[in-house]
Amino acid sequence: MLNDSDRIYTNLYGQQDWRLAAARVRGDWDGTANIMARGREALVEEMKTSGMRGRGGAGFPTGMKWSFMPKQSDGRPSYLVVNADESEPGTCKDRDIIRHEPHKLVEGCLIAGFAMGANTGFIYIRGEYYNEAQRLQEAIDEAYAAGLLGKNAADSGWDFELVLHRGAGAYICGEESALLESLEGKKGMPRMKPPFPAAMGLYGCPTTVNNVETIAGVPTIMRRGAAWFSALGRPKNSGTKIFCISGHVNKPCNVEEELGVPLKELIEKHAGGVRGGWDNLQAVIPGGASMPILNKEMCETQLMDFDSLAAVKSGLGSGAIIVMDKSTDVVKAIWRLSKFFKHESCGQCTPCREGTGWMMRMMDRIVQNQATRAEIALMEQVTAQVAGHTICAFGDAAAWPIQGMMRAFRPMVEQRAIDYQPPAVVPQAAE
Ligand code: SF4
Repeated sequence: MLNDSDRIYTNLYGQQDWRLAAARVRGDWDGTANIMARGREALVEEMKTSGMRGRGGAGFPTGMKWSFMPKQSDGRPSYLVVNADESEPGTCKDRDIIRHEPHKLVEGCLIAGFAMGANTGFIYIRGEYYNEAQRLQEAIDEAYAAGLLGKNAADSGWDFELVLHRGAGAYICGEESALLESLEGKKGMPRMKPPFPAAMGLYGCPTTVNNVETIAGVPTIMRRGAAWFSALGRPKNSGTKIFCISGHVNKPCNVEEELGVPLKELIEKHAGGVRGGWDNLQAVIPGGASMPILNKEMCETQLMDFDSLAAVKSGLGSGAIIVMDKSTDVVKAIWRLSKFFKHESCGQCTPCREGTGWMMRMMDRIVQNQATRAEIALMEQVTAQVAGHTICAFGDAAAWPIQGMMRAFRPMVEQRAIDYQPPAVVPQAAE
């Protein structure tokens, strides 16, 4: 279990004030100029050494991402963009960082912006986070008033402007290139890659897009050192992570823990256990709606980090753990996700636009016990034709829940087929 002294987010539950004065007491904005005095390259190296992997879902190494930004400007400005879209169902960690620890994010923007040579940062926040956007704007205003942003930010000699931008509330705007399109005032549709944002991102300029939790963790990593961060968690999966535990647990919560913590420990120790006890557990979605579902047997020993979950063909995603007890109709739950993904497809590429509709309609028939076994097999084929064949990872996100269901709950799905034949009962010979 994570020691309290190793927590990054000491006010995650909002028991203390969020404002600048209280944030400073917690250590925020302490020696920011000294950190930046180490120089851009040293900060990028520190980030690489820390082993931090992006906390938005993909888990790409953060320091490496920063290193893709140009060392010398070719005349174009560089931009930092923070992804606060947080639309993955089940995920509510960035929301609590913004509510209760906004200065960690604001300070993180300054340090990260400097490390990548950006004098301007944008935070793109989902439209539904109205109260959170107000709070974050207040924190930004406080930072400007205290000289921590703007010209010579925090006496560092670096000029840094930070702009908060509210989105209109579309799931796909959490995809980094769709987010950039939306930020530019266009429809939120993902771009073809390459070029990647570090070469041509916002307004055609070098850009790095990072998640809120990634950037909010930067100041503490810089203060306490890469060695401290990398000693937490497991090899190649270092540091702490905020897990969002929801569904059929007694105490739904957000909790910061080390990566690699057992799933069972998170549920039993932090979320008050499964409703009706551990034996009443049926399934868990371990990383937000798009991550493949696990059955109870898989949950018994599952560790919660990027590589351990990838090893069972699921994923850590955003760290949103959705717990389902035995009262859940798992097939119907996955059908509901299919409906969500069909609704949220931007419609730009054919396998996703058409495939999400097909998958949802096939799930419809399975849920209503109208599908044959052959149709179930066909649905699996359709998921394989969508995943990996689209412009952005949304196609995977839509296909994976169904593929996960087929891996973990195949007998349950097949029982709903109209041509299902229960196994013949062989009469036992009387002794
Ligand atoms: Fe749009 Fe879906 Fe294609 Fe992504 S995969 S670009 S969401 S249609």
